[in-house]
Amino acid sequence: MDFTVEGKIYHNGSFEQACISVKDGKIVAIKKTLTSDNHLNVGTKLILPAGIDLHVHFRDPGFTHKEDFSTGSAAAAFGGISCVFDMPNTQPQTISTRTLMEKIQLASQKSYVDFGVFAGVSDENLGRLSELSSLCAGFKIFLGSSTHSLHLSPQNLRVAFVETNRTKKVTLLHAEDERCLKKHEDHEQSLVDHLRCRSAECEEAALRDILLNAQGLSSPLHICHLSSCEGFEVLRKRPHNISVGVTPHHLFFDVHTLHKNQTFYKVNPPIRSSFDRDTLWYGINNKLIDIFESDHAPHTEEEKTIEFDSAPSGVPGVETLYPLLLTAMKKKQLTLDTLLVLLCERPAQLLRLPKGKIEVGRDADFIVVDLKKTETITAEHLHSKCGWTPFEGFPAIFPSMVIIRGEKVIEDHQILVKQGFGKSVGV
Ligand SMILES: [Zn+2]
Repeated sequence: MDFTVEGKIYHNGSFEQACISVKDGKIVAIKKTLTSDNHLNVGTKLILPAGIDLHVHFRDPGFTHKEDFSTGSAAAAFGGISCVFDMPNTQPQTISTRTLMEKIQLASQKSYVDFGVFAGVSDENLGRLSELSSLCAGFKIFLGSSTHSLHLSPQNLRVAFVETNRTKKVTLLHAEDERCLKKHEDHEQSLVDHLRCRSAECEEAALRDILLNAQGLSSPLHICHLSSCEGFEVLRKRPHNISVGVTPHHLFFDVHTLHKNQTFYKVNPPIRSSFDRDTLWYGINNKLIDIFESDHAPHTEEEKTIEFDSAPSGVPGVETLYPLLLTAMKKKQLTLDTLLVLLCERPAQLLRLPKGKIEVGRDADFIVVDLKKTETITAEHLHSKCGWTPFEGFPAIFPSMVIIRGEKVIEDHQILVKQGFGKSVGV
């Protein structure tokens, strides 16, 4: 659909009433006044770039009782996310040409938003990464085991980095050291036990290992979900090719205030102390954190309602990512500039996408939002198949309209495109 849209546009640090002209899914002009036969005026509502979530687990194929690409991508769309990147720990794991092709095919049929697929790096496929790079947006390495994760031995980390460096694509890292986790392994009955068993020492050890093994290499490495003050200190002086991400659950929770339904907050790396949480906010506001990511990792309520030790780790979050951060921005926990850089611009840059910014030549991916309209998060209004959220009751600002490549995808709580609208990107 070719059209013009008029509203309050955020441009060079301030809002201005302006118009955007969209043609063939791209932004072709931004001016004070523009007219067309198809003109949409959103009044005083804000037009912001749509978010990009480089870290989701849509559980498809293999665990589609928890989520699938249609429900996961619908949740993303309602949350103002135009593009998601799916992780390889599905069943089968996405670690070969065949499994990558199969996942791209199923996502192409089901997804409501644009998507990319990450290939897992394991001890077995190290020699085939350049072959896989023509199909994937990047690579994922788990240094410590987590629910359904795949594993790379620490002695293979340098070889893995050298191989992924050749492909020039980004490598995402789950930074918890397996040897350290084994050392602290114990019976867990609570979130405090989980924190002790996955101590900050394990994140710190993994990060030191990553910095050591990445020496001399230049392709992008991204540390997922940084969670501890110790880890933060290790990363303060890092090479420019290493970026760092944080999740809302590490920014909005503190282990000592979570008393009920503890398995529902069990996640890896764990939710830590208020001190760790405040360190992450400090990092965000001092340009030491690069990216917001949800690490959307749903499990069913039934799976979570068991003895703590056996409960799976992971929480859903793709739909609440942008709305929670908009509320935090309204409360002055971060600036809108910082929010848009970390949620839109930097992920687009890392994945080389023509998205993430309202700028001529980029994809027409925006959200329309009214900052005065705060809602309360309730699971029954969310779209993930898992049917619950750790952020139940939190204030949030949801977009009233979401446009992806010039098409209205969400309007008035309705999804307006068909499954399969989403396109494969980032390859
Ligand atoms: Zn993850």
